[in-house]
Amino acid sequence: MKSKKLGWNLDNSYSRLSDIFYRLVEVNPVSSPKLRLLNESLSWELGLDPDELKKEENIEILAGNRKAEGMSLLAQAYGGHQFGHFTMLGDGRALLLGEQIRPDGSRVDIQLKGSGRTPYSRGGDGRAALGPMLREYLISEAMHYLGIPSSRSLALVETGDKVYREKPLKGAILTRVSASHIRFGTFQYASAWGSLDDLKELSDYSIERHFGEIQNDANPYLSLLERVIDLQASLIARWKLVGFIHGVMNTDNMTISGETIDYGPCAFMDIYDPATVFSSIDRQGRYSYGNQSSIGEWNLTRFAETLLPLLDEDRDRAIEIAKEALNRFEPLCRSYWLSGMRRKLGLIEAREDDLDLIDELLTIMKEKTADYTNVFVALSLDEFDLLELFDSKDFKAWHGRWKDRTQSQDLSMDKIKSIMKENNPYIIPRNYKVEEVLEAAVDGDYGPFNDFLKELKNPYGYEKSQEKYAKLPPKSNKAYRTFCGT
Ligand code: AMP
Ligand code: MG
Repeated sequence: MKSKKLGWNLDNSYSRLSDIFYRLVEVNPVSSPKLRLLNESLSWELGLDPDELKKEENIEILAGNRKAEGMSLLAQAYGGHQFGHFTMLGDGRALLLGEQIRPDGSRVDIQLKGSGRTPYSRGGDGRAALGPMLREYLISEAMHYLGIPSSRSLALVETGDKVYREKPLKGAILTRVSASHIRFGTFQYASAWGSLDDLKELSDYSIERHFGEIQNDANPYLSLLERVIDLQASLIARWKLVGFIHGVMNTDNMTISGETIDYGPCAFMDIYDPATVFSSIDRQGRYSYGNQSSIGEWNLTRFAETLLPLLDEDRDRAIEIAKEALNRFEPLCRSYWLSGMRRKLGLIEAREDDLDLIDELLTIMKEKTADYTNVFVALSLDEFDLLELFDSKDFKAWHGRWKDRTQSQDLSMDKIKSIMKENNPYIIPRNYKVEEVLEAAVDGDYGPFNDFLKELKNPYGYEKSQEKYAKLPPKSNKAYRTFCGT
């Protein structure tokens, strides 16, 4: 289905699934929506003219105040393991406007977040505060430009209404765009509360939507599991390579499309330490930086369990098949990470003892409390004057070994450095900068937010204009904390 015309071109294939998978929702208006952010390049990619989106009737749509023609608003049902405990969830503050068919014929979900109560809201108000929505906008876009699969942010509207948390806050609605919002939790929902037909319907739908090429495989459900395992392994490896901590890797926040979604208490690590946790609600460190791959495997195991009845009629055999597939996750994730680390360190010709060299560096970084991002930047630039680490004997010795190793390749140092730069972001959304620009925007000044966003679109740029964002935070004893933003 190709389209040439610009404008909303929405289908809603999800609404053609059995009605256990969603609930239709009516508009839930806000008082005076103001469009504050619009992602013009994304808008074009979607086949939407940004100037049209700025018109009042479209702002009303992005605020959840009205429906466009052919739009049916729906809240998706899902369950999920939250910090290990299974529960019924669903879109409690999000609405699917539909699937936009892009000019190239592909389809993506357009979803509002913060759009009001739905049948799945439980005790919540269905709303979102401006700060957390700005945070999601900024970090999801930064992730995309870092080259990491992520939901995108199309627009942000201030609602003109207050939301009440510990204190009254400005309300906002974010329009986000994803390949889909099918979660591990959607499968868990079908498995726990649906029939076998429902589960099969969801699986077939997911395969058709994301993995058309496996439809005719001997066991397409096994292929589905294998695809999802592979995408998660690659995604988590990429998170780790840039020092990203998702913060709330509940199964309802993990997509089968392999995109990062549901930015809540996520943050980028400054000082390298695998135990790093920022989320105020993650008291046990379940979702710490270093735990992300084992949690990934735990989550995938929950996903695989839902597929058992489809993998084989014989349950023991199905378990065997699932286990075999799951066993590949850890080595896969590790190998994605290792190839990424090799590129970060300019180890282009893979050699057997590379892992030792990498581990030694990480150990020194942890001991010396070095900044994760900036160590790789310094190595890429060969500039160590800003790096305290360089005064350390251990680091100097490591650096000598690394130099010999990189120079012994059949590649010019220029080429090696340029590969390193392409793999080591010069800037990331550093927590203290994120807070700074969010605070200004919440106070009405979007200037710093937009400046930062502009630079984050070119994280591997190594530009002079980016220097201020590469600086380390002022030293503080207070640990950085993030909140879920509900
Ligand atoms: P999250 O932490 O954003 O992944 O959300 C977990 C669950 O809580 C999801 O089912 C959300 O829809 C729901 N939820 C989060 N915030 C709210 C809110 N303000 N009102 C209603 N439901 C919410
Ligand atoms: Mg969620």
